[in-house]
Amino acid sequence: MAEFIPYGRQQITDDDVAAVVASLRSNYLTTGPAITAFEDACKSAFSAPYAVALCNATAALHVAYLALDLGEGDVLWTVPNTFLSTANAARLCGADVDFVDIDPTTFNMDVSLLEEKLKTAKKIPKIVAPVHFAGQSCDMEAIWKLSKEYGFYVVEDAAHAVGGFYQDKPVGNCEFSHAAIFSFHPVKIVTTAEGGVITTRDKDLAERMARLRSHGMQKTPEMMQQHGGWYYEMDELGLNYRMTDMQAALGASQMKTLPANTARRREVAANYQSALASLPFNFQTTTADAKSAWHLFVITCANSVERRALYEFFQHNKVGVQIHYIPVHTQPYYQKFGFKMGDFPVAEDYYNRCISLPMFHSFTNEQQQRVIGLLAEFAAASRTQKAV
Ligand SMILES: *Cc1c(COP(=O)(O)O)cnc(C)c1O
Repeated sequence: MAEFIPYGRQQITDDDVAAVVASLRSNYLTTGPAITAFEDACKSAFSAPYAVALCNATAALHVAYLALDLGEGDVLWTVPNTFLSTANAARLCGADVDFVDIDPTTFNMDVSLLEEKLKTAKKIPKIVAPVHFAGQSCDMEAIWKLSKEYGFYVVEDAAHAVGGFYQDKPVGNCEFSHAAIFSFHPVKIVTTAEGGVITTRDKDLAERMARLRSHGMQKTPEMMQQHGGWYYEMDELGLNYRMTDMQAALGASQMKTLPANTARRREVAANYQSALASLPFNFQTTTADAKSAWHLFVITCANSVERRALYEFFQHNKVGVQIHYIPVHTQPYYQKFGFKMGDFPVAEDYYNRCISLPMFHSFTNEQQQRVIGLLAEFAAASRTQKAV
């Protein structure tokens, strides 16, 4: 019986286990030195002067949006082809959400549609949140140029892009954004079990995000000098979105494997691309400016019927393929705001045909050959059916 192959999987080394055990035996289980060490590892890997670690990337989006003053009466724009969080975090701030459709080949935000929408918008968004789908950066330089012209903030949802590059610099360096967020969920590229990080170049923003992560509290040497060592002040409403030291210790250890992890994902992607050259499926177009982190490898089928059949075929053969993503505007919750099927036709058509193949660090060549063999088998069978 063939073993089950998931579409994504964490890789935990003995070093990772030792790092977590050491943190458990240390004096700090939360808000200790492991947090700073993990934030430093992120600053270095993402080439950003500031990094703030939080309990997950949804919290990171929420805090980044709050720190940019997103609130009631504001609107945030993102793409329908994303996980719920990019939009939900704006709703948690009390803001409205609207969407920009995707490009049919890169599956990322279509910047020409963004520009068109800005030209006729009754209300300019306070924040635009592009999503680096599957790990490939959006056209950030163009989005940044529009942000200067129209006056909106840019928050990169880089949940998929840990280890990705744009214009030869790490995603998250924030040259073309106010902040970038990363996810460390086990299915993502590097894991802290649950975890998120925000990077930014703005010192004040970083300090405000760090306060919002912990109840909005502030404790400075001057305050303690004046009032006593116990003293703290709260100027604005915050949350408890802190990461634990066990998670941060795991994250710092995992970040050391990022170069090898990214290199292996690149190999897996290249293997898929060459195999797909002779198979009747399309896959994500890569752009010249970006070097994908390859969180996902997505192919598209001819239509929704074929996609459903391929999904079932893989499930039957113990391959855990996935679908990324159900367009957010079609969720019942978002339909309550007036969105409906047909509003963002490219994302909807893409959703009907997409399927994510297995892609992870420890994915072996043998496992990949099995997946490619199944794809070929399915293609041959469905062609036979069509010929009958
Ligand atoms: C996973 C993911 C998130 C949320 O990450 P969590 O750490 O699970 O909260 C947000 N945006 C995108 C695009 C994601 O894939």
